[in-house]
Amino acid sequence: MKIKSNDTIVVIKGKDKGIKAKVERVYPKSGKVLAPTVNKYKKHMKKSESNPQGGVVEVPRPLKISNVMLVCPKCKKPARIGYEIVDDKKYRVCKKCNKRI
Ligand SMILES: [Zn+2]
Repeated sequence: MKIKSNDTIVVIKGKDKGIKAKVERVYPKSGKVLAPTVNKYKKHMKKSESNPQGGVVEVPRPLKISNVMLVCPKCKKPARIGYEIVDDKKYRVCKKCNKRI
């Protein structure tokens, strides 16, 4: 996974295209990331003890990793990511500014 939690991403496909968000969780098995401020969908809730009114709440859905791009913290641009291995450590490298992320 090129994207990790707490990374800033920008959505490149779908209804929130162009919006930046912070990644809260990553799901390596399904190749998805969850950013709570984007890709929200309305969900109808039944009345329950914790939600006595019932009604509609907005719930964020995980985004496919192919629908987001990492925003490089160094150059602040959406960037493709490469890897650099130095002394057996793997670093992510921004392909725009060539800095380690
Ligand atoms: Zn960069």
